[in-house]
Amino acid sequence: MRLLQAILILLTSLYCAPLMAQEGGETPVVVHGARTDGNDKTAEFILDVAKPVGFSVFALEGPYRLVIDLPDMTFQMEQGIGLVERAMVKNFRFGSFGHSGSRVVLDLSKPTKVVKAYTLPSVDDNPARLVIEMASVSKKEFAEQALRDVIRIRADGKRDTAPVAPSATVDKEADAVEDSRPLIVLDPGHGGIDTGAVSSSGAHESTIVLEFAKALRDVLVKEKHFRVLLTRDRDRFISLGGRVAFAREKKADLFLSIHADIVKEHYVRGATVYTLSDKASDAVAHTLAQQENRSDLIAGLEIEETDDVVADILIDLTRRETANHSALYSRTLVGALKSSVRLSKSPERSAGFRVLKAPDIPSVLLELGYLSNKEDRADLLSDSWRDKAIKSIVKSINKFFAKRSAQSSGLFLPRSG
Ligand SMILES: [Zn+2]
Repeated sequence: MRLLQAILILLTSLYCAPLMAQEGGETPVVVHGARTDGNDKTAEFILDVAKPVGFSVFALEGPYRLVIDLPDMTFQMEQGIGLVERAMVKNFRFGSFGHSGSRVVLDLSKPTKVVKAYTLPSVDDNPARLVIEMASVSKKEFAEQALRDVIRIRADGKRDTAPVAPSATVDKEADAVEDSRPLIVLDPGHGGIDTGAVSSSGAHESTIVLEFAKALRDVLVKEKHFRVLLTRDRDRFISLGGRVAFAREKKADLFLSIHADIVKEHYVRGATVYTLSDKASDAVAHTLAQQENRSDLIAGLEIEETDDVVADILIDLTRRETANHSALYSRTLVGALKSSVRLSKSPERSAGFRVLKAPDIPSVLLELGYLSNKEDRADLLSDSWRDKAIKSIVKSINKFFAKRSAQSSGLFLPRSG
């Protein structure tokens, strides 16, 4: 079991993203502007802030990125900021990771080194600023920097060379240790720096699925048959490994990831349930899994493939058993949704979704519909559609656990077909 433990530790460490703790629960400082100045040799990235705060900068490669970690901030920026390429910055994005801090990620058009970083206090009409000066460097020099340097700047603008404080702990939710009811972990996809799909009308996948998950939780809690936890209950980023680690730490009995993505084929519509497989069931599933698995990259995290180390036969057996249960739940869910909402042409698919990789928890990913389709979009934003879908999901969860308990007491006889 030592291997399993090692994996768990690895997953847990991924969950605790390298962020800066909020000092003393103050109200978050407002960021109200950001820009890049310069050319293709040297450039400055500037954040306008209500008052100077400490921050840290480090580089990541594959693709080239600079990551700026800040305390929890409120971003009040104009829409579409960050999408225009300037100097050596292709684009940038930003968002909150919750109490543990927030982050800005710059996608670079070429290898770039941080030459200097500092803060400037507000003077007259000029706002306070956080400034990062950079210069283009060779690939080799970038790689050295990416391996070694985290530059930390204090709020007073001086470089902080003190040893790094232990990483911030994640929000703890009330543990229900004594409660033996099955635990359902609902996982609203994306959040914070990763908005997920954005529809042509500006609707964010991360918001739609969060609202959906909360409403589903409320109904499940009222039913009293299950305990329910959300991987996130506000607009914050959680890594894919962090979502899995959360479900494992809490000993979830079922993991349901909820999404509403965009596909190129705008005519494609309807709900689809995905399970984990090495080989994608079809091209659409393959593309979607790749898109979803980019989430950590968007947030400026290193992608760590943890599953290749596993060759333990015990884990292998557990996996197979878990895969069977995931498939059973996927069928049950599709069966329940069929009567209330529109399903896609082939509603049961599979691919290598990283968020479904808990070896011991039945896990499925539900695409409620596609934000790229007009009718689906209307459904996703409609309360009555949502209520219908939620009713069916609750039904499917009840049915799944009824089947499982019948199975474990030897009463369950699988029907053919
Ligand atoms: Zn998604």
